[in-house]
Amino acid sequence: METKIYSYHNASYTKFQNITIEVSLKCPYCGLPTAFVNSALIPNSNAGIAPFSHRCPNCENISYSFQITNDKEWKLGSFYPGYISDGIPEILVKHCPNFAHIYSQAQQAEQNGLTDLAGMGYRASIEFLIKDYALAFELDTIDDINKLKSLGPTISHYFNNKRKNKELLTFNAAEVVSIIGNDFTHWNKETNCDLNVLKHYTDIVIKVIEMNFDMKFPTVSRQSR
Ligand SMILES: [Zn+2]
Repeated sequence: METKIYSYHNASYTKFQNITIEVSLKCPYCGLPTAFVNSALIPNSNAGIAPFSHRCPNCENISYSFQITNDKEWKLGSFYPGYISDGIPEILVKHCPNFAHIYSQAQQAEQNGLTDLAGMGYRASIEFLIKDYALAFELDTIDDINKLKSLGPTISHYFNNKRKNKELLTFNAAEVVSIIGNDFTHWNKETNCDLNVLKHYTDIVIKVIEMNFDMKFPTVSRQSR
């Protein structure tokens, strides 16, 4: 997680006078780099650990951290809710927040050696991504999107496998995620593919959806939208 150092001062408590604290660079709710408004929650604590709240001025949501000190400086111990991975394109963090959160959790699971949980997480992230995409592109109402209960029907619905165009290719990639992802989720296994294959195809689907968002919201345009 990328972090940022803030100056913090609470005149009432010696241990919080003219200190620095370490906070996530990005807000875990809106995903934007932000200038958090920080407050110590238990300023009279004598322990080497102190909880802080952090209000994001962009989206007004509050996140929390534990700051740990060695009596010289305060460092970030943990941050809640879970952070959004730095590698996720900003346009997807903005328009597909559900995807961004679960993909970040899958990455954390993988980094901690929890391969099976990571596999389930990457599979779920693609379901969230396609549904976030459908909502943002107004392909269906939220009620209709809610009716699609799992990844397989979601893929078939939005990337029609009967059409011989680029959607068929997206369907193929998403279906690989669905099939291998099921192997991580269900007791019976259909393939011998490992997490790297699942991640490879997960990244392909992410790229396709990112491309669609980049075209829908071009960086510059002469046409007013
Ligand atoms: Zn925010």
